[in-house]
Amino acid sequence: MFALKLFKKHSLYKEASFTKKRITHKDIVPIIFKHKPLFEIEKQGKSFEKREIYSLKIGFGKTKVLLWSQMHGNESTATQAIFDILNFFSNPQNLQQEADNILKKCTLYFLPMLNPDGAENYTRRNAQGIDINRDALRLEAYESKILMNIRDKINAEFGFNLHDQDVWYSAGDTKFPASISFLAPAYNFEKRINNTRKKSMQLIVSMFEMLQEFIPNQVAKYDDAFMPNAFGDNIQKKGTSTILIESGGYRNDIEKQFIRKLNFVSILHSLKNISEQSFQNENLEKYENIPYNKKNKFFDYLIRNAVIIGKFGKYNADIGIRHKAEKTKDVYIIDDIGDLSYNFGFEEIDLKSKCEIIASIKENAEAIISHFF
Ligand SMILES: [Zn+2]
Repeated sequence: MFALKLFKKHSLYKEASFTKKRITHKDIVPIIFKHKPLFEIEKQGKSFEKREIYSLKIGFGKTKVLLWSQMHGNESTATQAIFDILNFFSNPQNLQQEADNILKKCTLYFLPMLNPDGAENYTRRNAQGIDINRDALRLEAYESKILMNIRDKINAEFGFNLHDQDVWYSAGDTKFPASISFLAPAYNFEKRINNTRKKSMQLIVSMFEMLQEFIPNQVAKYDDAFMPNAFGDNIQKKGTSTILIESGGYRNDIEKQFIRKLNFVSILHSLKNISEQSFQNENLEKYENIPYNKKNKFFDYLIRNAVIIGKFGKYNADIGIRHKAEKTKDVYIIDDIGDLSYNFGFEEIDLKSKCEIIASIKENAEAIISHFF
């Protein structure tokens, strides 16, 4: 019920200044300060290029929850959802009781946009070229130190590690995209399940089931191979029940605004669940049954059974088009050609070998899109 209300009323809480996936540090700083004094705002340190990284704290419960987003600079979906969640706690409207209950049981620490330098250039890595999510042991990047310091200082019981994944994953071997994917990271190579990890898995099961109402069959999980230098794995190892949420693809959502709403709902659903400890009833077998992510199953556009006229004759081929994210815009490229029978497109057309495409157009993804879609 709570999730459904959030889903229906998301527009009441939506931070209106974000409408696109490219957001930078300059966009978020004034909005952070809009939440003073309800939230306790603290400088946690600076990025390599000296951008200030802030945390926002709210609540007075004994369960400490740390939520960080955008350690990869070009993954802003959850950052936007965090600002929607801040608005929810600032003015819960007719969900005041639910908001109060969460804050009575939990103290929440938000760390939005951990990698502002990467966000500036719309890159995964930080300004030093380091992938922060492979720097959990060396802590060579300033941003990595900031995250590990705050985790250690508060000794969080729960951690939300918020990312975006490629939009072209499917949920299992199906025609459904993996719009949201989860992982309860392993803390050793044996992938054992201790109480810390068990709680992560149970929370994921609860979110998985809740999301079926909104995106049936479009929720998946990541492979849980232990990554010794990754943050989720190390934070799990330190005793913080860690939940990785990956925002994936959804039809007609290139700016990921619908997936942002799914993040908003999922995270708040979990916070309520944590405050009530209701996740403890979830069955771990259900975690095992969540389908795995399958990489590169989707294209933005898929043209099936085209006849291509080349210099040396005609041939049949499917054409798969994907976008490539550049600093200021997405450009479309032909990413694959040939037998794509086992792939899917967010947009598809089957030419049934009746339509000929001349080779010069075949090279031009934008021309094909505007012609056929
Ligand atoms: Zn990421």
